[in-house]
Order: sequence, then structure tokens, then C-alpha cells
Amino acid sequence: MGPVRMLGLLGGMSWESSIEYERIINERVRCHLGGTHSADMIIRSFDFSDIETIQANGDWETASRVLSAAAVDLQTAGAEAIVLCTNTMHRLADDIEAALHVPLLHIAEPTARAIQSAGMDRVLLLGTRYTMEQDFISSRLKARGVSTMIPAEADREMVHRVIYDELVRGVINDESRRLFTETIREAVRMGASGVVAGCTEIELLVSADDLDVPLFPTAHLHAEFAADWAMSDPLTPGPESR
Ligand code: GLU
Repeated sequence: MGPVRMLGLLGGMSWESSIEYERIINERVRCHLGGTHSADMIIRSFDFSDIETIQANGDWETASRVLSAAAVDLQTAGAEAIVLCTNTMHRLADDIEAALHVPLLHIAEPTARAIQSAGMDRVLLLGTRYTMEQDFISSRLKARGVSTMIPAEADREMVHRVIYDELVRGVINDESRRLFTETIREAVRMGASGVVAGCTEIELLVSADDLDVPLFPTAHLHAEFAADWAMSDPLTPGPESR
């Protein structure tokens, strides 16, 4: 068809951030191709309550089955790459990739690249407990030469609570922003030179203007990466292989 390849987005985790993906991908395509161009994409948006329950039960097998089946559905419907619009569910990236023959554009790739471009090698990773305490994001960053720190236990509890009790529900709270910036200041004192907003809703609460160190907004970076992939020539190496 046209100059953009079709993307399949696994969203609704939560829709507060997937709606940003849709906007950012479309804006980037319009900015590069002009005219009335926009992205070609299919969005599968889950009921986040179902997903949250599966996560809270630690039932990653069901999560893997549900997300892999949805990714295959998008592929069958014509998607040429899959974009999983959440850091946490990248815990299942290997399973989803194994179910597909089109690529899964991993969220850690553009994140690592942005950190490296900023010349940094030690950053604070904020996200859900799953993302901070397990290694599915940090190991990918490590493989790119970026080491991560996570907050102390009480601050991890606070970050996780704010994500699930506020951000995924569309609640943006000044006091939570203050708590996040305090946590970030503490990490900077301990040697972090930047912050990964490693949950796609964190950048809705905290912006670069709130901080003295660079912020790496994973949803924004991932969405731009996906748009660039969609606009790249299939016959030349795409942004995922750079
Ligand atoms: N969107 C979030 C993330 O990037 C949290 C919601 C979820 O658990 O999927 O991790």
C-alpha cells in the first residue's frame, strides 16, 4: 500500500498511556511524510482490570498465553511488527516473540539507545515492582552497557502504589509528583545520572522540567521507535537493527 508498514499495538495497559502511543506515532509519521499521512495500525486494547488481576496473582503463564494469542491475531490481521505498550508485560517478550514471525519492537532498545546517546551508563529505573525487582528490562539495558539502580523498598512500594492506584486510573497528583522527584533526588545523590520512566504512565506525572537530570520516557521513545520502524524501508536495515 503506502509508504508506512502496518503496526499492531498491544495496548490498554493502561489506555492512559496507549492513547499517547497512538498520538506520538501518528504525529511522527505526519512530521516525516507530511500531507495527510498518518500511521497504519491496529490497536488491541485490553480491559486493564483483567491484566492487573493476572499480574497480582503472579499468573504469568496466563498472561503469556493471552498476550501471545493477541499478538498473533494482530499479525494475522496484517501487522508487520508488534508494539507492546507497557514495560511490565515485556516480562513475556521472549514468549511473545517465539509465537510470532514478525518482530516485536522491544521497549528497552530505544531506551538503551537514548541513554547511550546522552553518554550515560548508570540510571535510576522506576516502574512497577515487577519492572524494578525483576530483570527483564534491566538485563536488556545492561547488555547495552547501561547499569540501573532501583529505589529503596519503601520508595518502590510508593512508586508501585502510585502507578496502580493513580496513574492507570487517570489520576495525576501533585503530592505523588513531589514524592517521585524526592526519590529521584535521592538516587542522584547515590550516583544516578538520569532516570528511566520505566512505566509508560510515569511520564504523564513527571516531566523533564521537574528534574535536574535527564528523564528517559519509555512510552515516548518506544512510540517514536515504532513510527521510525514503520517508515523504514523493509529492504534496508531498520531502526531495530541499528
Ligand atoms: N504501563 C505500565 C508499565 O509500563 C504498568 C501497567 C502494567 O502493569 O502493564 O509497566
